[in-house]
Amino acid sequence: MIPLNRDPVPATADAVVVGAGINGLTTAYELARLGVRDIVVIEKSYIGSGSTGRCGGGIRQQWTTEENIRLAQESVGMYENMSAELGYQVFFRQGGYLMITENEADLPAMRRAVELQNRCNVPTSFLEPSECLKIVPDLNISRLKGATFCPKDGTAYPFAVVWGYARACHRLGVKISIRTAVTGITVADGRIARVDTDRGSIATPILVNCAGPWSRSLAASVGVNLPNRQERHEIMVSESLKPFLDPMVISITNGIYFSQSMRGEIVGGIGDPAEPHWTEPGQFDTRSQLRFAVRFARALTDLYPRAGDVRMMRQWAGMYDVTPDHRPILGGVPGLDGYYHICGFSGHGFMLGPMTGRRMAKHITTGAEDPIIASLSLDRFDKGDIQPDAFVVG
Ligand SMILES: Cc1cc2nc3c(=O)[nH]c(=O)nc-3n(C[C@H](O)[C@H](O)[C@H](O)COP(=O)(O)OP(=O)(O)OC[C@H]3O[C@@H](n4cnc5c(N)ncnc54)[C@H](O)[C@@H]3O)c2cc1C
Repeated sequence: MIPLNRDPVPATADAVVVGAGINGLTTAYELARLGVRDIVVIEKSYIGSGSTGRCGGGIRQQWTTEENIRLAQESVGMYENMSAELGYQVFFRQGGYLMITENEADLPAMRRAVELQNRCNVPTSFLEPSECLKIVPDLNISRLKGATFCPKDGTAYPFAVVWGYARACHRLGVKISIRTAVTGITVADGRIARVDTDRGSIATPILVNCAGPWSRSLAASVGVNLPNRQERHEIMVSESLKPFLDPMVISITNGIYFSQSMRGEIVGGIGDPAEPHWTEPGQFDTRSQLRFAVRFARALTDLYPRAGDVRMMRQWAGMYDVTPDHRPILGGVPGLDGYYHICGFSGHGFMLGPMTGRRMAKHITTGAEDPIIASLSLDRFDKGDIQPDAFVVG
């Protein structure tokens, strides 16, 4: 049992982490493992209530930028041992990811991506359309031009992951205050001094902003301008079927992705270019749309016609926190000691979270330069040093 703390928050802490999603909890856990005492995680709702609890649980290493590949690859290594390390079953399953395209023009980039991933020791291979049938029999390959496949990609159960991290945090003495909102942050002499919540104030020298889609407004409260915008994304879940699909199938042509859960459900989504972009929490809308249900059902049955007889049971929506290059923003900001952000993960924060938390915790406690964190710092946007990843899907 994790005692979920609804009492007044402690008066002091060595570090306050805002947000009990994958990034807040992995960071708090790794900080505690490195010996930081008196860590408080502040969560305005319940554990996993943000994007993490809304996500598809997909974990892939097939990216076109080395930072994303490395963070995902290192996170996969952590997911492989996570159930044992946390003492909690997180249902990580490596059925692979099959990335498909209907565009001839994508093939050179896909081949380059395979080369880069192989150089990073990710065992991806390029497949001709007919070879996809060995992995997903009954896939409609009539319009496919090619695919890539990595057998080490997979899925995990998002709620189990955050519950596992929350329990492990608790064992290490981290306090998790749920139903507690950060209402203000005080900066004194260029450093973090105090965090105000609706259950009291905490004097602290370190604040880690892991507020997901709310990270932009939290950062603005200490004068940090994040270029993030927020978008609604939805997921559809079918009735349970006997096991028929090992990998996650994902199309870089229209953005559909789907996998089969351990309960037998088809779980998937599809991006929608017509969705508005928001920047203020008051604008967020996570209601479900009929438009999504129709788009997803059409794209799914087009690619996998046998799904035409399957009943869809439920759908939900969550928020992506999107940066201009769809890559996260990590690190601190010059002139504001003790402030760090770990945000902007678009549709891939669940897969990158474990190693991001580990690297950030080391960076926060030692101050040591980390090349991946440095390349994902906020100032890359001012420097124009933007390298979008070509395989952003969803
Ligand atoms: C439909 C959908 C599908 C997705 N599929 C995948 C996928 O397959 N694979 C993948 O890797 N990623 C996926 N993602 C993206 C992934 O969910 C996110 O990138 C990731 O969960 C972000 O985690 P986080 O901890 O940074 O933020 P969150 O999980 O959003 O956590 C932030 C927390 O901060 C809390 N908070 C905010 N403001 C305050 C405040 N002022 N005071 C206190 N608490 C506060 C919130 O309540 C929230 O719980 C998907 C996202 C969606 C919406």
